[in-house]
Amino acid sequence: MKIANLFTKKKPTVSFEVFPPNEIYSLDEVYKVIDELAKLKPDFISVTYGAGGTSRGRTVEIASKIKNKNHIEALAHLTCIGAETSEINNILEELKKNNIENILALRGDYPKDCTDFKNGDFAHASDLVKFLKEKTSFSVGGAYYPEGHQDTNDLLDLFNLKTKVDSGTDFLISQIFFDNEQFYQFRDKLKKLNINIPLIAGIMPVTNAKQIRKITSMCGCSIPEKLRKILDRYESNPKALKEAGIAYATEQIIDLIASDIDGIHIYTMNKVETAKKIMDSIENIRAEFEEAV
Ligand code: FAD
Repeated sequence: MKIANLFTKKKPTVSFEVFPPNEIYSLDEVYKVIDELAKLKPDFISVTYGAGGTSRGRTVEIASKIKNKNHIEALAHLTCIGAETSEINNILEELKKNNIENILALRGDYPKDCTDFKNGDFAHASDLVKFLKEKTSFSVGGAYYPEGHQDTNDLLDLFNLKTKVDSGTDFLISQIFFDNEQFYQFRDKLKKLNINIPLIAGIMPVTNAKQIRKITSMCGCSIPEKLRKILDRYESNPKALKEAGIAYATEQIIDLIASDIDGIHIYTMNKVETAKKIMDSIENIRAEFEEAV
């Protein structure tokens, strides 16, 4: 099923993100993570593409398992930076062969310390969206940044987002954020720009203080005072930090659902227990909107 069509049937959607094998998780372990996440009955599971040192080649294979073995909708991330049309076409063929109907179209990041980077056929994610919409029938999502994107000033980024949406993006998934009020202000700006496609909120439960400080400094997302106090207090007590981080994310999610969000996307970081605890604590909230379908 195309994710774009999900939103006409239910709101909010609940989805998870997983990443392919890396130096910590083997393919078998990733598959076990997916099997456990599938039991939580998400509307879809997304698979990253070459992010955080993971291998690109496995994205299609993992998305295929999600779709064809777990029978859950799969969203394959695809970056276009430095890519030629023929490379993108090869991946699209693989996705089609595996019955995958949804792509998160991304630019990706320029490789660090690379002096001879070759520009490919797509400069921006909007170019990939346009290509996918003109040449294929995939349902296409894009990324958005409630606190702005590091390469551009906030106002320009908003207008660039408008171009991406006008190129045919069906839905948007946000960068992580920890301050819902800031998110709502951003959502109002999108409405004023006539951006009316479904907005999915990307939520990352904090379970590791060092990791979250690194991620937030990389993606330019702020840490509100309330969360900073939690990080400072429980940094050296991983079990307590996990408890507090899960409670913080759950509170964010409950507030977003009450504020009419179109979808919640949990950046699971391949940690099943975190996703499970959050789902358990919103069991009745979720039952209410599942029943409305
Ligand atoms: P774009 O939409 O192209 O925007 C990138 C920058 O270019 C922005 O500053 C924008 O304002 C500017 N821009 C856009 N269009 C124009 C234009 N026409 N003229 C001038 N400037 C323009 N990375 C991975 O490598 N793999 C993944 O799987 C992955 N998954 C992600 C999932 C989500 C939900 C998010 C939020 C990010 C993900 N990323 C992933 C990271 C992403 O690749 C980076 O954030 C990247 O820097 C921007 O990608 P984008 O698709 O938002 O690019």
